[in-house]
Amino acid sequence: MPEVNNWQLGRNMAYRFDAAYPERQFAFVFNINRCLACQTCTMACKSTWTFSEGQEHMWWNNVETKPYGGYPQGWDVRILDLLEQANPGGQTWDTSNAGTDGEFYGRYDGMTIFEAAKAQGGQQEAIGYLPADEEWTAPNIYEDTARGSKGVPGRYGAGEALPEHNTWFFYLQRLCNHCSYPACVAACPRNAVYKRPEDGIVLIDQSRCRGYRKCVEQCPYKKPMYRATTRVSEKCVGCYPRVEGSDPLTEGLPMETRCMSVCPGKIRLQGLVEIDPKTGDWKHDPQNPLYYLVKQARVALPLYPQFGTQPNGYYIPPRWVPREYLEQMFGPGVNGAIDAYTRPPRELLAVLQLFRATQTIIFRYEIREGPKVRDAVIGGQPWEMFDDTVIGYDSQGNEVANVSVLEPFIERPRKYLNSL
Ligand code: SF4
Ligand code: SF4
Repeated sequence: MPEVNNWQLGRNMAYRFDAAYPERQFAFVFNINRCLACQTCTMACKSTWTFSEGQEHMWWNNVETKPYGGYPQGWDVRILDLLEQANPGGQTWDTSNAGTDGEFYGRYDGMTIFEAAKAQGGQQEAIGYLPADEEWTAPNIYEDTARGSKGVPGRYGAGEALPEHNTWFFYLQRLCNHCSYPACVAACPRNAVYKRPEDGIVLIDQSRCRGYRKCVEQCPYKKPMYRATTRVSEKCVGCYPRVEGSDPLTEGLPMETRCMSVCPGKIRLQGLVEIDPKTGDWKHDPQNPLYYLVKQARVALPLYPQFGTQPNGYYIPPRWVPREYLEQMFGPGVNGAIDAYTRPPRELLAVLQLFRATQTIIFRYEIREGPKVRDAVIGGQPWEMFDDTVIGYDSQGNEVANVSVLEPFIERPRKYLNSL
């Protein structure tokens, strides 16, 4: 089986195909700390792509409440459990060389879903399972249900303890990660699932698919879904007409997807990152906001990197949640990411203002420095805040966003009081 480089794991791993990388990769950063679970993203996707007969159960974008919620129910616990069965106690990271020699987060010493399947000697390319029909029927089950809530002995009244809450839940926003080593692509015996070379979006060729559901079974994130009325599988298409600029609304410029662009919580920022054709890693591009957030500020982390698909969705982890839980979900970069978000360096605070500043995909940003507006002590350490302005540019170098750290304060003239 070919070996490919997985930079998120800090090592090579086995995959069905030889390495082949897109020119640019569809990627996104979600700031979990800001999500309101309004499901506007979910409905924007549904009303665009999955409103037809046979798609009733399909939510290509969903927002679930962790730790108990999941769509399909228990998807992540099931995969973690399968990995554990294949390699008991072995899912560990060695962080002693983190940040050196290609070990960005450290080195994952456990098994990926591909390696676990190989070790078990089965027919699957990746370990997985087919959810039962009822597991797809309640996409928002356990909404707002907290762990460690009232009634837990010794914990009542201490739920708000800092820095990690004893009583906690958080919202996890999910869509297809358009992975660099997609399990859905590896799983398909018909080679009906493919990754586009221009933007890394993963699609199912509807004319080749015969509905074997191997992608549904082996995608660890459970994002391909079977449609009984057509007897083929479907998945998130990354709103490719918007991303490639062929949707008339885009006027030819790469535009963010429907779910990204509607978010009232301003938690979402999408991008297209340049990929090194030899290693599959991101090319050094420090003025790209996604590159800055993931590779420089290290504030956003991949979802379950240990699965091995090298997902391209990144998350700023929630500050209040027990670190062990978050490390299982986002890998060993959690403490650093939370520290960076809690006490953001000057540049990070400016770049965070780009979230939802425009629907056009931002390829480059600049910062115009402003005055210091605040001194504070955060976590016992001094911190300064500056009213900088961040300017975002589209693929053609045109300015498409211009946002300052402080919101402008506009006083309504007396003569307009009580009027709109
Ligand atoms: S639209 Fe934004 S804030 Fe609302 S649920 Fe989706 S990600 Fe969260
Ligand atoms: S999240 Fe699943 S469906 Fe999407 S590319 Fe990765 S393996 Fe395929």
